[in-house]
Amino acid sequence: MKFENTLEFAKYLDTIDPLASYQQEFNFPKVNGKKVIYFTGNSLGLQPKKSLEYVNQVMSDWAQLAVEGHFYADKPWWDYHERFCEPLSKVVGAKASEVTVMNTLTVNLHLLMASFYRPSGKRVKIICEEKAFPSDQYLIESQVKMHNLDPKICIIEAKRRPGEHNFRTQDILELIQEHGQEVALVLMGGVNYYTGQVLDMQAITQKAHSVGSKIGWDLAHAAGNVALDLHQWEVDFAAWCSYKYMNAGPGNASGCFIHQKHHHNKDLVRLAGWWGHNKQRRFLMEKEFDPIDSANGWQVSNPSILSLAPYLASVDMFDQVGMQALITKRDKITSFLEYTIKQVAQQTRTQYEIITPNDPIQRASQLSVLLHGQGKDLFTYLLEQGVIVDWREPNVIRLAPVPLYTSYLDVYQFGQIFKQACSAI
Ligand SMILES: *Cc1c(COP(=O)(O)O)cnc(C)c1O
Repeated sequence: MKFENTLEFAKYLDTIDPLASYQQEFNFPKVNGKKVIYFTGNSLGLQPKKSLEYVNQVMSDWAQLAVEGHFYADKPWWDYHERFCEPLSKVVGAKASEVTVMNTLTVNLHLLMASFYRPSGKRVKIICEEKAFPSDQYLIESQVKMHNLDPKICIIEAKRRPGEHNFRTQDILELIQEHGQEVALVLMGGVNYYTGQVLDMQAITQKAHSVGSKIGWDLAHAAGNVALDLHQWEVDFAAWCSYKYMNAGPGNASGCFIHQKHHHNKDLVRLAGWWGHNKQRRFLMEKEFDPIDSANGWQVSNPSILSLAPYLASVDMFDQVGMQALITKRDKITSFLEYTIKQVAQQTRTQYEIITPNDPIQRASQLSVLLHGQGKDLFTYLLEQGVIVDWREPNVIRLAPVPLYTSYLDVYQFGQIFKQACSAI
């Protein structure tokens, strides 16, 4: 589609947008009494208005039923988490039995590594990407140390080529091949948090398996944002947080995927707890751990129902909309944003570089813009004018138009404010 940087055109795109009405379903912060233009849904998604109802229901059930709520609440608590399996499996391309929600992202990656990073003999290495999200770096290093191994030997980082911002799939595949039978686990971010690059998860998964390694994906920036087919790709495990593109609220529960080929393997090491035990016999308080033969077999504690409630509100909304519709709008609105930035930069002679790949297969809803010279003043100016973007040192702004609640009008208005900012600074 040929875009135009005009108010009329942006409004026209909104009138033909099948998801336009969803913006009303969210609460927006305000600056100077006006709803903000929110581009940080990749960091913390907005609050769906419905989530309050879900939370209130739990509060009211607790007040009226107390312990009886485990079985007689509107949505009983003892299997509340199972309500996620079906709708969330569609978000990540899995079978319902392969998905569960529990804990938080880094914690889940630790639990899953306990099962799937089992170094032995020469097979001790973990391949990850360089400059991974810090939590992932600490996670991997501490796991290696827990096995009394040396991180300097065991952690192999895939690197970008000098002067390039993004990874080349071929380089990652070759790195896995090079380390071959020494690779115990490949663990990477499916969507890079800094650049927004989407990795070729299918090809990398295949390659990891071809050398006999396990593979796990951190899908923090992928869940609810990109098309995933975890079951078909035969990914061993994955985990994601729910508070970025999935709008479940700060620090809320993480989703996990464990491929069904592992469900029946009772020899796998697990850090177990009673919520992963045979559901029929859970309250018999028996001695031997008998894991549920689904992803729920990795559950540990009885989950925080108050925190699952807003996540369920969001998952129900994703189920109603469907990933396909989201992805269609995502591509269009991201391209419109890219076009708008280019137009403004040209008009104001701003030096910039979009470091997110422009190949539509390698990007999703985020554009990372490297500004040459502007510094943080630009970020502050935008903020004062009610545009919330994310700032990363040294001078990258990350913008994520979220298909569920960003309008084309928002993008146009951002362009106007960005233009003032570039001229003023
Ligand atoms: C956001 C993010 C995290 C956050 O981890 P928490 O355990 O939820 O605090 C971890 N890894 C990546 C890649 C992220 O983007």
